[in-house]
Amino acid sequence: MNPALFAIFGDPVHHSRSPLMHNHLFKTMGFNGCYTRIRLEDGARLRETFFKLGLKGANITVPHKEAAFAACDDIRGFANDVGVVNTIVSDNGRLIGYNTDADGFLFAIRGFETIRSVLIIGAGGTARALSARLRQEGMNVTVVNRSKPRLEPFIQEGFNTQTWDNFTPGKFDLVVNTTSAGLEDDSLPLPEELLLPTLKACRYAADAIYGKVTPFLSRCRTLDIPAIDGAEMLLGQGVLANRLFTNDAFDADETEKVMRESFAF
Ligand code: NDP
Repeated sequence: MNPALFAIFGDPVHHSRSPLMHNHLFKTMGFNGCYTRIRLEDGARLRETFFKLGLKGANITVPHKEAAFAACDDIRGFANDVGVVNTIVSDNGRLIGYNTDADGFLFAIRGFETIRSVLIIGAGGTARALSARLRQEGMNVTVVNRSKPRLEPFIQEGFNTQTWDNFTPGKFDLVVNTTSAGLEDDSLPLPEELLLPTLKACRYAADAIYGKVTPFLSRCRTLDIPAIDGAEMLLGQGVLANRLFTNDAFDADETEKVMRESFAF
């Protein structure tokens, strides 16, 4: 029998560890599946490419999560609240969209003590998912972004929003970098004169980027702030996505354990 095919779509996508995580699980569990990565420049071609390749499911990363939402026939669960999809599954020719990023992030910060206030840097798909989910958990969320247009949906949803121009460093329990600054370059997500006082006043920090020490994470370490990178979030969203891909074929704890092993590769 042909293996069930899965992929991650993004641009860039070569850095993604999702293929390692899912393939290690498939191999360990004896599941007849294969997961690859696909660089997609035009998000409008996601649906067509997905079906042309005969995929059963896929993850979506930067910058196509909003395009993925638009590409689906049906949206389930939390993705409806945020208009952002990171996991799609084919169901008899229909494309069903989900968001597993936000719960993956909650999984990642479960070791942090009570968080009441959060500064999210960035206003893309990840920021939309996290801001909505963290607010559902009762946290007070502020969003700061380089450009103003991307803040519009946050303004409409009643979040505190600021651009670099009017941002005043304040006190937050948790500061999260959800931008792609530092992913392919050495830039900081906020200008240094704004970022450093903000980090000095916070209790915890988290970066959505994984697999490298970003300039943001490096500043956190210099300042001795407890900080996590995006690997734990990746793991959390991956476990949830895999349950959707395989119709809950494996126990969630076992999935987490096996996927975590792939981080050593
Ligand atoms: P989007 O493209 O939707 O949003 C990117 C955001 O980053 C925008 O707000 C953009 O601001 C900002 N930005 C980009 N470059 C810079 C820069 N040099 N300085 C300041 N701001 C910048 O991306 P996503 O939300 O989908 O993903 C963001 C990051 O999170 C990626 O690095 C991705 O790999 C990571 N991620 C990790 C996950 C994990 O599991 N660990 C899961 C999901 C995402 P502007 O509007 O001004 O352009």
